[in-house]
Amino acid sequence: MDLEYVISDSVVENIVDHLKRSQSILFITGAGVSAESGIPTYRGVGGLYSNGLTAEGVTIEEALSARMLAQNPEVTWKYLRQIGEAVSNRKHNVVHEIVAEFETLFPRVWTLTQNIDGYHRTAGARNLIEIHGCMDTLFCTHCDFRANRFAPEIQDELARIAEQNDVPTCPKCQRLVRPDVTLFGEGLPERGIAKLQEELAVGFDVVISIGTSSLFHYIQAPVRLAKRAGKFAVEINPDHTDISDIVDEHIRAGAGPALKAIRDKYLESLS
Ligand code: NAD
Ligand code: ZN
Repeated sequence: MDLEYVISDSVVENIVDHLKRSQSILFITGAGVSAESGIPTYRGVGGLYSNGLTAEGVTIEEALSARMLAQNPEVTWKYLRQIGEAVSNRKHNVVHEIVAEFETLFPRVWTLTQNIDGYHRTAGARNLIEIHGCMDTLFCTHCDFRANRFAPEIQDELARIAEQNDVPTCPKCQRLVRPDVTLFGEGLPERGIAKLQEELAVGFDVVISIGTSSLFHYIQAPVRLAKRAGKFAVEINPDHTDISDIVDEHIRAGAGPALKAIRDKYLESLS
């Protein structure tokens, strides 16, 4: 995969010109921002499933669906574990760090992420909407058991699963345990949606979408809303997506080099 795309100086300058006149920024992030941590994306450039099916012969959306979890939880858990293990073995990267840094540079910055890796939080972002939940919390599908993935009481069970390629069960009632993430076919968390609507109602001067295939309407909507309100929108993605033609600037490059160029130029413009 070659992400050595050219990042045009004039594009970066135009973005920085807008940032300098802005009070509020919304970042929208997807799997592409964690790609540079070594967590593979599902679709688009470098995507695991861009051209095909999982080993079970179903799409990744079916494998990670509520229906599959109910009928064949071992299939859903196989792919949840794949992300979980990759996330545990790696850490946040410069993109997550710059997004968090922007919270200190502008009066109002929010991040809407589809990622379930928790990296925005570990990098220090505070105004964060994890619209698909986070891998770190596990809960029982039957009783009130809830635990952090790293909590001591669940470590024996997790070690057993790792060995047996099995599904984890609740230490209290032995029923199926799952992470607190939104599976395909499930509704979005109400609190996250309410917070997003609240912040969108206030509005943002600049919207920056990074590393998402923008397939979901609630991921495209803030960009469309900003454009309708005459605001400035940027996309960073080596691939073309549904929002590429409506944004003011589309940087076709890796998230790290592109966001670093914007941050560096912005800081330079202040001095
Ligand atoms: P996606 O896999 O559909 O798309 C990723 C996008 O990132 C693609 O458009 C791709 O072209 C782009 N990309 C690849 N490398 C990039 C880079 N270096 N810099 C910038 N962009 C890059 O991801 P999505 O839109 O987030 O949707 C996938 C769903 O799967 C989400 O719901 C998410 O919860 C889940 N998922 C999460 C993780 C994670 O938490 N790290 C990883 C894989 C999938
Ligand atoms: Zn239970």
